[in-house]
Amino acid sequence: MPILSTDVVDLTQQLCTIDSVSGKEGEIVDVVAKGLEEQGWHVHRQKVYDDGKGRDNVYATRVPIGDHVPRLVFNSHFDTVPPLIPLKRTDDALFGRGVNEAKGQLAALIIAANRLVDERPDLAKDVALLFVVGEEIDHAGMIKANDLPGYGPEFLIVGEPTEMTYASIQKGALKVKVSVAGKAGHSGYPHAGVSAIHKLVEILDDIMKYEWPKDAHHGDTTFNIGSISGGQALNAWAEKAAAGVSFLLISLCNFLNIC
Ligand SMILES: [Zn+2]
Repeated sequence: MPILSTDVVDLTQQLCTIDSVSGKEGEIVDVVAKGLEEQGWHVHRQKVYDDGKGRDNVYATRVPIGDHVPRLVFNSHFDTVPPLIPLKRTDDALFGRGVNEAKGQLAALIIAANRLVDERPDLAKDVALLFVVGEEIDHAGMIKANDLPGYGPEFLIVGEPTEMTYASIQKGALKVKVSVAGKAGHSGYPHAGVSAIHKLVEILDDIMKYEWPKDAHHGDTTFNIGSISGGQALNAWAEKAAAGVSFLLISLCNFLNIC
């Protein structure tokens, strides 16, 4: 019996029975890496965490890694959010942790990639699979994947839940920390200091009022001022203030006005 089932539902079921809550990806990484090797893939395990638990990215290609840069990469992630919800199979559905995100996608991508290289051997060298760890917590796996030898696809097909519709783009994320310095002093003496909070509020007001880029096809740039801190006392000019802002971008060059 092959390590990985060649039926998409059976393979989803097989992957869902392995607990791979973020932090515990070692076992599923082993199974998928060995299974892909058995199917003829060149498998490169890329170490991501130093915790000794085998939480590695898996990058699989049809030619030795680094010999060629595949143009098309199928990507998803091994880890799930907690807790493990045991799998249940009915006549026409699977229920349990990972079916929707992202074991179903892993199974579909593995089977699609195998079918593609079987039916179009001329394209085989341009097809790769990239499965990462830590996606649900710190994105360490996907960030690290940029260092892989022979990685730089023109096309990336990402397996993620999108409510059963095809999504042509994923917004980029930009996290910004705005830090402002003031000068401490008693607030009864306006000339004695400078409030970092007053300056920060002006900057945040600019962010709120600015016309951020919009795109007819890809939607709007959106943002969230998710945290604010600063100040030392009600009667003192704030010496320091900071805010955390996260943007969801439709285009970085557009955002930075350098297109
Ligand atoms: Zn996901």
